Amino acid sequence: MILVVGGAGYIGSHLVKELVEKEQVIVLDNLSTGHREAVDHRAVFFQGDLGDEENLEFVFSNYPIKAVMHFAANSLVGESVINPMKYYENNVSSTLTLLRVMLDHNVNNFIFSSTAATYGVPNVDIINETMQTLPINPYGRSKLMIEQILQDYSKAYNLNYIVLRYFNAAGADESGHIGESHEPETHLIPVILQHLAGKRDKISIFGSDYNTPDGTCIRDYIHVTDIANAHIHALNSLLNGTNKTAIYNLGNGLGYSVKEIIETCETVTGLKANVEITDRREGDPAILVASSRKIYEELGWKAEKNLKQIIESAWNWHQNQRY
Ligand code: UDP
Repeated sequence: MILVVGGAGYIGSHLVKELVEKEQVIVLDNLSTGHREAVDHRAVFFQGDLGDEENLEFVFSNYPIKAVMHFAANSLVGESVINPMKYYENNVSSTLTLLRVMLDHNVNNFIFSSTAATYGVPNVDIINETMQTLPINPYGRSKLMIEQILQDYSKAYNLNYIVLRYFNAAGADESGHIGESHEPETHLIPVILQHLAGKRDKISIFGSDYNTPDGTCIRDYIHVTDIANAHIHALNSLLNGTNKTAIYNLGNGLGYSVKEIIETCETVTGLKANVEITDRREGDPAILVASSRKIYEELGWKAEKNLKQIIESAWNWHQNQRY
């Protein structure tokens, strides 16, 4: 059985939908940002906090867990600057409790959701996993701290782990039954689509004076189902012993500016956006684009869906949003 912590959240729920086809799954989620309706009915669902040792003891004592996938985290850069305590307590401290209890129960396979924010402001355009990690905000630091702790635990306690550094997750499952739903929503693609659907007056571009061709920030957007599939590849490699420890970027390898994203949303929806330019948002590097060559070479995974497909699936979800 696979324990998916944070399996009711955006990325976790997409992973669960894929994983239940192959494995028995138990989801632990406190529903602070996740949605019960997002969890596939074939998974066992347990509502509780991952920082609560009693919950974890219950789960590990009662289910034969062979690996843990950990999606539960706070993940907003701006919020992490204003409220770092929340980020260090939820993302670092609670994860340590999870690791302790799983190791106590001799479960030693772990897949960790990390982020491009661990790289900080890279001095190259295409980032690979050997680049220096110098995060510039508490969110990125909270994730990097766990990555470093995993290294130490692996040596000392024989923990096998895979770290997946996501670039910009977007899009929704093709069924239209699950998708991205944050309250409040801050991510670029859903914000644009909410505006085009008439739920916001306008959209703001956070800075047009970056050192990029059109002056707006460039990111690497990756379909959430591609991310889910990468987790399945990672899990298989831990369970069949081909991997003991590894770090992989998950991206498309293509960068799109904020303006290009707005244009593609307009094309997909056939609607015109009302756009204003505002100040830069704190903590945003100009360009973040992944090389995902390593995971392709080692595990045979690559992103399958392009930007248009990402936005089409997100728009499909927005029009029929269920939660
Ligand atoms: N962005 C923007 N307006 C918005 C939301 C985001 O201009 O309303 C920009 C943001 O500055 C960044 C990019 O869009 O350059 C992606 O931001 P998002 O919050 O979606 O993801 P992040 O890169 O922070 O993980």
